[in-house]
Amino acid sequence: MKHRARLTICIIGLLFAMLGLSVGKASAQRQTQRPAQQNPGAVRVYPEFKSQFGVIRWLKEQMPLRVFISRGLSLDSVIDPQLGAPVANVDNLSAWPGLVAQLIENPQQWNSLGIAEGYVDGHYQAAYEGIASWKVFEKEGFLSYQFTNDPSEADIYVFFTKQFVNKMGMALFANDIRGYTSKTNFPYKAILAGGQANFKPVVIVLRTTEGRGGSMPLGKMKAAATHEFGHALGIEGHSTNASDLMSVYYGRGVISPSDAATLRYLYRLQPDLIP
Ligand SMILES: [Zn+2]
Repeated sequence: MKHRARLTICIIGLLFAMLGLSVGKASAQRQTQRPAQQNPGAVRVYPEFKSQFGVIRWLKEQMPLRVFISRGLSLDSVIDPQLGAPVANVDNLSAWPGLVAQLIENPQQWNSLGIAEGYVDGHYQAAYEGIASWKVFEKEGFLSYQFTNDPSEADIYVFFTKQFVNKMGMALFANDIRGYTSKTNFPYKAILAGGQANFKPVVIVLRTTEGRGGSMPLGKMKAAATHEFGHALGIEGHSTNASDLMSVYYGRGVISPSDAATLRYLYRLQPDLIP
């Protein structure tokens, strides 16, 4: 216990050190040239990673995580009879893991899933490459995952949709939202106390079209998959710095130094919730 408290203090100290560094750099830059620009080179742990319910991350015991990327499968054919809209609508995010758990149990229903309109073969490869880009952290020892082609054994699932809809079944065109991630989380303390967690799949859905219908460009798909996998790993909120992958602007489409610092920081914290 004592040891853990000391570790936390160390991390906070490190965080302050990094903040100090970024302030220093920003002021130096302001003197020389660019005015008022957010310093894109400053590395910082962004606090938005933490959910309103606390720290969410996987345990070492759960790794290697298994990731199933479907070849374009869409959940949209599963209709909520009450709403007449897809169960996997964005007003109903918390139902997605249960829906996928149910589909895995029912091969017939699973096999009836269609391919998302707008899906092209390159989308699979783009999603794969994006998700695989987090593997740079495997050598640091706190994260590991594998891809599987067997949908019955995965922890994280990737599906596709032509476009996201709300509970009325109406398409959402506002903003550049290319993906959603839904996970069910369990209190770590209850698990430590011997409680049995009924873990549910983490569900990522990626959009196959952009604007009002053109196929999602592969670079944008890759960035979206990379970003959503960051959410699947436990970075809950969005960085306010547009140059970070985990901002709503997807940064440069790749893991930024601040995204990396944030993930490392997250995996040194004791979790409150486990996906
Ligand atoms: Zn996001």
